Parts: sequence; C-alpha cells; structure tokens
Amino acid sequence: MASVYAVAVVMVLFHVGALGVFFTGVSTATLVVAGTLYVIRGLGITAGYHRLLAHRSFKTSRPVQFLFALAGCLAVQGGPLWWVAHHRSHHRNTDLEGDVHSPVTRSFWHAHMGWMMSREAFQEKGANSRDLHRYPELKWLQRFYVPLIAGQAVLLYALGAALNALFPEWGTSGAQMLVWGLFLTTVVTWHITFAVNSVCHTWGRRPFETGDASTNNPVVGVLAYGEGWHNNHHMYPFSARHGLEWWQLDITWWLLRGLEKLHLVSELKLPKAYR
Ligand SMILES: [Zn+2]
Ligand SMILES: [Zn+2]
Repeated sequence: MASVYAVAVVMVLFHVGALGVFFTGVSTATLVVAGTLYVIRGLGITAGYHRLLAHRSFKTSRPVQFLFALAGCLAVQGGPLWWVAHHRSHHRNTDLEGDVHSPVTRSFWHAHMGWMMSREAFQEKGANSRDLHRYPELKWLQRFYVPLIAGQAVLLYALGAALNALFPEWGTSGAQMLVWGLFLTTVVTWHITFAVNSVCHTWGRRPFETGDASTNNPVVGVLAYGEGWHNNHHMYPFSARHGLEWWQLDITWWLLRGLEKLHLVSELKLPKAYR
C-alpha cells in the first residue's frame, strides 16, 4: 500500500509544483530547456515505452533502445518494465474486467489517473514484460527509476542556479528551471498520456470494429504525437504507425521514419493494407 500513497503524494506535489510558474517568472533559457525536455520525454513514452518496448513495432540497437527507455523514464510515468506490463494487460483485456484503466468498466477518472493510485496498479508482477528482462540495462532503469527522477530534479535546479550565477541578465533561477523543466512539463505530458486511456476510450470515431471502446480522437492524436489514433492502434497494435491515413498526424511515426533513414531503427511494422 505504501506505493499507492507514494504515487498519490508525488502526483499532488507535481501538480502543486506546476503552479510555481506563477511565482518564478520565466526566461528564454528556461523555455528552451523545458521545451526540449518536453519533446524528448514525450517521444520517449510514445516511440520508446509504447511502440518499441510494449509492442516491439520496430527494431533497433541496444544503445538506442536504452536511450529511448531513458527518455521514457524521465517522463515520470514509472519504470519501463512496470509501464510495459500494465500496457500489455490493457491490450489483453481492453474494456473488460482485468483492464486496469477502462472508462467502460470503471469511471473516466479511474481510467485517467485514479487507477495508478489504487492497489491494481501494483498487482502486476511483471510476467507481462518478462521478454524485456533479458536486457539488464532496462532492469537497471526500472530499479533506479526513483533516483533517476530525483537526479533529474537536482540537475535542473543546479542548471538554473548556475545560469543565474554566470548570466544574471538572463533572468533564470534554480526554482524557475525546476518548476518549468520538471513539474509543469511533466504534468502536461501526464494528462496528454492519460487522455489516451480515458478520452480515447470515450470520445471519437471508431472506423474499426475492435470489440472495445477505443476511438480515434484528433485532438489527442495531435497532442500525443500520434497516439490518439487509438482505435487504429487497437486494430493493429503491432503497427509502428498509428495515424494510418495521410491526414492523421503522427509525429512519432515521422520520428521513426527519420531515424530509419539514419539507420538507427529498422523493420518498422505496418498493417498489410497500409504498406
Ligand atoms: Zn487503449
Ligand atoms: Zn498499445
């Protein structure tokens, strides 16, 4: 139960911390750092945790896989093995009993973020992510997830304080860098990620009859770097591309295509009808 309270406390702290933006002011340096981290962490979740680790939608080298997973870790959504295990269980029991975050069997709030503050979020013993246990570097990320997040906080604070000492005219500070670079950006990414579980199983179009309530929601589609084309995703979970139509913006897919051209990823999986 300790973990349940810990998650609740962290979530409240981050939300309250994000309100710090009204007190710390802002500077160009802070916006650049926060914006860069925001994009890297988001893509760490979509391309790394989700399409690579959970669904094995493409192939890559161990170092690149590690960097994807590290970027995902920094988003404060749990370690990679925990995240993957629960996500796979969502696909196995979508919108049925056993789905830890379904707005159909439970409430919208439970699907959005309540489930992480319930016992269910800690019942998954990791059998669902067993295949990833052969990568000690992923187990390492899982084990040292909390110190990594703490380290991220300390480094951001130190960076802001150092910039303030070196370039006082830039108007940045340790607290400002921490609040924008960690609290605000993390909370925004949280709610966009969580919306895939709540909004994209509630509102939107369902071009495919998938036997669950998953939807394509254009707003979440764009904000979540392509993950909101969620009915497509439940139809073809293995696909590296979620926005299957040309007009379904899928930034994660663009990233993967770019990395493929640089020979950093390969064998991007696609449904037969969309090759
Ligand atoms: Zn889903
Ligand atoms: Zn998925």
